[in-house]
Amino acid sequence: MRVAIVGGGLAGLCAYATLRHGGLEPDEIVVFGDRADPTEAWVARARAIRQQRMRSESDGHVAATSFPGLAVRTALRRRSPAPLALSVCNRYRPTVDEFLEHAARVRARSGWDESFVQRRIQHVRAVEDGFELDGRNRFAHVLLALGHPGLARPPELEGDPRAVHAYEPHEYADEVEVVGAGMAAATEWLNALAAGASVVSVRRREPERRPLNLPRPLFTRRGLAAFHRTDRDARVGLLRSYSAPSYPPGRGWDEPLRTPRFRVAAELNGAPQVICATGFRHGFAEDEVLRRLAEDHELETADRWLVLAPDSTVPALTDETRTLSLAGVQAQWAYPAADTLAGAKYAARGFLRRVQRCRTR
Ligand SMILES: Cc1cc2nc3c(=O)[nH]c(=O)nc-3n(C[C@H](O)[C@H](O)[C@H](O)COP(=O)(O)OP(=O)(O)OC[C@H]3O[C@@H](n4cnc5c(N)ncnc54)[C@H](O)[C@@H]3O)c2cc1C
Repeated sequence: MRVAIVGGGLAGLCAYATLRHGGLEPDEIVVFGDRADPTEAWVARARAIRQQRMRSESDGHVAATSFPGLAVRTALRRRSPAPLALSVCNRYRPTVDEFLEHAARVRARSGWDESFVQRRIQHVRAVEDGFELDGRNRFAHVLLALGHPGLARPPELEGDPRAVHAYEPHEYADEVEVVGAGMAAATEWLNALAAGASVVSVRRREPERRPLNLPRPLFTRRGLAAFHRTDRDARVGLLRSYSAPSYPPGRGWDEPLRTPRFRVAAELNGAPQVICATGFRHGFAEDEVLRRLAEDHELETADRWLVLAPDSTVPALTDETRTLSLAGVQAQWAYPAADTLAGAKYAARGFLRRVQRCRTR
């Protein structure tokens, strides 16, 4: 056993499929996670906001190779060129159910269940020739795909019985205040209106409108190269600006809001239900494993980010013999859209390259 993935979510599955495609066998990889189903953590949140379609496009999948994307797979299955035509103009958005079927196939074909160990890792420590997990198992190469460190709630609503987080199961009262202005908030405005509620969008700044969660150039090689050339302060500034709320443009989002039952306000005003579409807590220090790792090894940090190499590895703990990589939201220093399926693939490929380089030495 030489390789470990800590965190059994979508980024973990993506990394696992990538390692298997790169030639590693199931008995060379261990995946440590809370849940055997890699989609479980994600789907609970997507179902809570009744998400029907992915925000990502054809390349938002968990398979090892970019091609075929989900548009090609769906076109073949439906025997219809329509998904391909939409994909050419960046308008193909798979349904959540299509994505889940695809993820289930990748899980089954890759051998994920053979490598999965249900265990939450508390402590990752660098040792001479690799990493020790909870003081017992040693691995030369470790990828940390821990997901988000928990839901963020406005402090003034802590303990308020009217408040529910958007990513927790809920129905809609007759009057609803939705705090936040990103994709989850926009989805909730539409859900609550469709359920017959009056909706107040409580927000302090106007959301940006863009199809993907970050500007499209950041998903390209050239855009990423420009990001990697930034110095530390500029990069912190950029990453902060990218966390501003946004949701896609289009009539499907705008039309339902043209009703007197929808309005915008700057403050809460006593509605019987408050939905906190306020996302997740931010930063490596909110995750116990990463906080201890950074402390134990005095890792370089910048603001709320761990400083990573462009390939998503931790520079001080990665060399020709061992690799420590991050995937998912905590890898934003290397890839600003780290919390997307495209980002999961980026980290997975960087990790595979490192593992392969060590294997051929
Ligand atoms: C509602 C919603 C919709 C989204 N839609 C899209 C979309 O359309 N397209 C797109 O590209 N992205 C989308 N994203 C973003 C992204 O794809 C998801 O956040 C995705 O779940 C990230 O995968 P992850 O593996 O990093 O985290 P998760 O899927 O949350 O998985 C992390 C896993 O690691 C486990 N874990 C954590 N710590 C430990 C530990 N110490 N030991 C063991 N296990 C641990 C957790 O329990 C969890 O099971 C969406 C996100 C949300 C919330």
